[in-house]
Amino acid sequence: MRQKLLDDLRSKIKKVFKEISKEHQIDCALKEEISSLGYLMSYDPNTNTIFFDPTFISKNFSAAGFKTDFPNLSLRNFVAILLSHELGHYEDYKENPHLFNANSSEGIKRELNAWEKGCKYLSDELEKDYSKLKDISLKHYQRDEKL
Ligand SMILES: [Zn+2]
Repeated sequence: MRQKLLDDLRSKIKKVFKEISKEHQIDCALKEEISSLGYLMSYDPNTNTIFFDPTFISKNFSAAGFKTDFPNLSLRNFVAILLSHELGHYEDYKENPHLFNANSSEGIKRELNAWEKGCKYLSDELEKDYSKLKDISLKHYQRDEKL
């Protein structure tokens, strides 16, 4: 059963990514990985790839607090929000590569840029949830530098 959920999630991620890529002419790869750093998704500018960890995404989606914060958010739309944020990084890297230096202390700026640039990849009805996830993830980021 668990395996089936993960397979379903994998195909959702690929499908949403394909839809957005086509509509916005995105030129970037998508790959699954087990994130040792605990990222749901991440954008790697060196390989121009968005990495996703389906186990971790599904764990977050099923977490107790999730339904409280996002009562109406489907798994498909959660994935769309995560992908949009990573595409924000993809786009930001083209404009501001200096922010992505390994020793850059501009992590928070990078996150803000990605959230700002990423929202255009979403449909309007997801904007509220997008901005809520933004607030939550920025709080986490300030605490332990994730997302
Ligand atoms: Zn980010």
